[in-house]
Amino acid sequence: MNNSSRTSGGALVRFERLEKSFGQRSVLRGIDLSIEPGQFVAVVGRSGSGKSTLLRLLCGLEQPSAGLLLVLDASGADARSGVRVVFQEPRLLPWQSVLDNVCIGPQKPDRERGLRVLDSVGLSDRVHEYPGVLSGGQRQRVALARALMHQPSVMLLDEPFGALDALTRIEAQRLVEQLWLEHRFTALLVTHDVSEAVLLADRVLLIDQGRIAEQFEVNVPRAERRGSAELAKIAASVLDRIFDASSSNAFQTPESVPPTLISDTKAVPAGT
Ligand code: ADP
Ligand code: MG
Repeated sequence: MNNSSRTSGGALVRFERLEKSFGQRSVLRGIDLSIEPGQFVAVVGRSGSGKSTLLRLLCGLEQPSAGLLLVLDASGADARSGVRVVFQEPRLLPWQSVLDNVCIGPQKPDRERGLRVLDSVGLSDRVHEYPGVLSGGQRQRVALARALMHQPSVMLLDEPFGALDALTRIEAQRLVEQLWLEHRFTALLVTHDVSEAVLLADRVLLIDQGRIAEQFEVNVPRAERRGSAELAKIAASVLDRIFDASSSNAFQTPESVPPTLISDTKAVPAGT
């Protein structure tokens, strides 16, 4: 499915020559990337390659060192206030009920909407309970509901299924896909699981050494993805590429490599 051609409530996301350093440590080096409204993009790469930093820049938790970062709605206006994040740990307030956790925020709580979004993540019977009595998967669904409260234009998911057991993880993946199809937000999912990346995304980005080393389009129709041989082939290419990148950097951590030593031939022009 070509998501760029469908109607969408999602925002356009664009990075232009974006750089991020922490002191002397250069973490992102010239990211050029354009994500169409409503597209689902997965970000993979080895630990420490800058995936979370990319997401933290998008939601304003970090500021770029150089370059441009744009989040624009259909009229071209800044839509950064509509960016929401779900982290690996659900980050709920233990002394607040499920409903209160979802209604939290600077605006006046809209409890009716809170109940609706909790229903949409399958938790309508748990609204008055406290996070401590929920399972890990249910807590993560509360975090998703909280992110959905204010009609997100962009949903950032930073390894949101990482702490879930295998079956709960499959359920959570299905739920995220269903919510994405329903709400049409632009989605960026960081995951270490390549099968998950190709299962959910329209496009998979491989980050290596602070750059987008390669991009993979996933053109298999969503309804045919589970168990698809074509999907397995794409996943294998992504994995091969990750191992290629890792072996060529085996003795170098991203921060120990001066930018001049990084081969530009690996970087595929982004901005598609
Ligand atoms: P990933 O999510 O791909 O595992 P991160 O984006 O979390 O990687 O981190 C990339 C690099 O940036 C790491 O070397 C990490 O130590 C460094 N880093 C991230 N945040 C900070 C920070 N606030 N201060 C200093 N270094 C940081
Ligand atoms: Mg991370």
